Order: sequence, then C-alpha cells, then structure tokens
Amino acid sequence: MSRTYDVAVIGGGMVGTSVAYHCAGRGLRTVLVEAARVARLSEELDFDLEYRPAHGHCLICTEQDLALFKWHRDVFVAAGFSERIVTPQEVREAEPHMRVGPEVIAALQTDEAVLNPLRLVYGFWRQARRRGVELRTDSPVLGFRRAGDRITGILTPREEIVAGEVVIAAGSWTREIALKLDLSLPEYYIQGEAVVTEPVAPLLNGFVFWSTERIPAETRIATESMVKGWESRANEYLFGAYDFGTVQTRRGNMLLGQMTHIIPAWGPLTWQVVPDSAREALRLFPQLRRARIIRAWRSPAPFTPDHLALLGRVKTWQNLLIASGFQSAITQCHWAGEYVADCITGAPLPVEASIFDPLRFPQPIAV
Ligand SMILES: Cc1cc2nc3c(=O)[nH]c(=O)nc-3n(C[C@H](O)[C@H](O)[C@H](O)COP(=O)(O)OP(=O)(O)OC[C@H]3O[C@@H](n4cnc5c(N)ncnc54)[C@H](O)[C@@H]3O)c2cc1C
Repeated sequence: MSRTYDVAVIGGGMVGTSVAYHCAGRGLRTVLVEAARVARLSEELDFDLEYRPAHGHCLICTEQDLALFKWHRDVFVAAGFSERIVTPQEVREAEPHMRVGPEVIAALQTDEAVLNPLRLVYGFWRQARRRGVELRTDSPVLGFRRAGDRITGILTPREEIVAGEVVIAAGSWTREIALKLDLSLPEYYIQGEAVVTEPVAPLLNGFVFWSTERIPAETRIATESMVKGWESRANEYLFGAYDFGTVQTRRGNMLLGQMTHIIPAWGPLTWQVVPDSAREALRLFPQLRRARIIRAWRSPAPFTPDHLALLGRVKTWQNLLIASGFQSAITQCHWAGEYVADCITGAPLPVEASIFDPLRFPQPIAV
C-alpha cells in the first residue's frame, strides 16, 4: 500500500512533533512516522514535571569553576539573560535544605524554568493532530526507495509512505537512518542517565547543578570551545560545566540526572546510574538516605562538533531535510519546527541557512 503526503517527518520526539505541527500549520499534508509511540511514557510515568519558573544554582567549588562561571556569566548576560555569582549565605537562604560547605558559592540563574518534556511532546502532537497530521506508530523506518537524488518512498514494516519532502528528526537515531541514504552526519552522543525517588518532604526550591569529582577541571574548562566554532573538535568537549543536576517535582519526587560519557556511535549503554546518583545526591541531601528510587532510565543525547543543530535541506538530495543534533531540545524545538517549515515552503529564514547546514562540516570528525 502506498500513501502520498506533502511532508513525511521521521521521529516523534520534541523536534519531530514540532516540525509536523508547523508544517500542518502551513497547509501541508503531513504524516509523522514514529518507531514506537508518541509521548509513550506520559501516562506511564508517575512523576509530575509541569512548567514553572525556577531559579537555578550552579555550585562553584574550585578556582577553575569560578573562572569558568565568570566566563559563563558574561556570555549569558551578553545574550540578555540573568546570571550572577552569589555568596554562600545567599545560596543557603535560597536553598536552606541543601547541605553545602560554608565556602561554596554559586552561579545563580534567575530566568530559568522547568517543565515536563513528555507533556511538551504530547502538546505538540495534540495540536498537530488537530491540524490534520496523520500518525504512524510502531513504524520504524527501515530504509528508503530512491530514484537518482530523490527519495521516492519511505519503507516501514507495514507500508511504503510517499511524500514530496522527507524530514529526518529522529534524535539520536538520525545518524543511523541517514546512513541508509549514504549520508554520514557528524552527530555524536553523550549518555544521559536519571533516577526518580519516591516523593519526599520539600528539599529544593529551584534546581541545582554541580560537577562530580570524576571530571577533571581541564575537561570542564574545554566547554569554552562551545563558542569557538566547529574547529574545536568534538573530542575536546566531554561534559558541560557541570554534569549532575537535580530538581524536585511538585509531588515531591527528586529527579537526579547526569551526563556520563561520550558514546562514539549508537553503542551499548552502561548502567551505573543508581549508585552514582545515590552517592552524589547524598552529598547534598543526606535527608534522602531512606528515600526509595522508583524509576531509572538512560538514553543518548545528541550533539554536533560546534554544538549547533543540523537543520535544513541536504543539498545532495532533492527532497531531504534534517532536524537533529539537539543536545537540549526543550528550549529549541519550537523554533526548529518553524525553521524547517520555512525551509519547505521557501519562506525567508530568520538566520543565514549556512549556520545550521547539515553538511557544513567538510568531513565527519571521529570521536
Ligand atoms: C537524562 C537526560 C536528561 C536530559 N535533560 C535535558 C534537559 O534538562 N533539557 C533539555 O533540553 N534536554 C535534555 N536532555 C536531552 C533531550 O532529551 C534531547 O535534546 C531531546 O530528546 C532531543 O529531541 P529529538 O526530538 O531531537 O529526539 P528524540 O526525543 O530522541 O526523538 C526521536 C524520536 O525518533 C524516533 N525514532 C528513532 N528511530 C526511528 C526510526 N527508524 N523510524 C521512526 N522513528 C524513529 C524515536 O522513537 C524517538 O521518538 C536530556 C537527556 C537525558 C538522557
């Protein structure tokens, strides 16, 4: 059976659902093709991460941290956000339940917020469906039919889908899918892990990030390469300025997340999350000693050599677009969806297309 659409979007995560929503808003007949189910965990997970404004503290424990966060603050403030270095007294007043040493200062970000990403995906999907987007669930894309430099069919286990334009928005699976079109994209992955505790008494007003001891300071300082352009090479960047973070949900669950290590390709993930998270959490919140962990998960988060997304048309194919490489998709998925819809309809783009060109790197960079 063969169906025809103006646009087929592969991948029903934050970015794919946003692309489908915006394409349908331009009157394009759109289908969203998802390997599993859209927002499949939203009903299953029993923790609540609704949107709310929240301050964030990044703990500064060493001289290198201080140098890094002074640089970080300058970048943030220049971009119009609010960040300042606060005293140990201010940290304790803002987060009285957190056990930090008397000398620990922090970078305080006040323009921040938290939300439930599953609800974000579901929200995009609900509105996309109202706009007429069709959905294929349990439909992993296995390959493509092609004629010269044109994709003429998308092959799933149950059907072949025909669309004028094809958008690959499959997050950490994008590289693998693009290989089926002989396209080697410079997308790499950091393993992210998280655990959720049972609800506990209020411990945290905002969210807090800090660095674990296993990360050498030189590596964290390399985060500065994020602003130096793609020549910074992917392997200079291992982790962010911090690699561990926690937030408490309205129901009282503590969500403890960490980025652990770079995975060269979509390889096997390790499973060290529970002991690591427990040890780190107890350093700041010994009150959690008796809390039960009710859920844990791990997943790769994608990034590119210059930490900018791969977004827009692929010049070597007539009808292929990429929307991927988002290490932090929550704040970016909305405009990314609009951007892709603009590319498809030929509307003026808000920035020079070369900035996000999926083929802007001369050759794949080994990690
Ligand atoms: C522990 C952890 C904490 C994180 N914290 C944050 C945070 O605080 N803020 C933030 O912004 N980001 C955070 N991230 C990163 C965030 O999860 C990613 O940026 C985001 O998921 C990328 O969205 P996406 O839509 O590009 O890809 P995904 O969300 O990965 O969606 C891709 C979709 O494509 C589907 N797919 C895969 N293969 C196929 C196929 N062959 N055919 C069809 N469909 C396919 C998948 O099933 C999936 O639904 C975190 C990640 C982890 C692991």
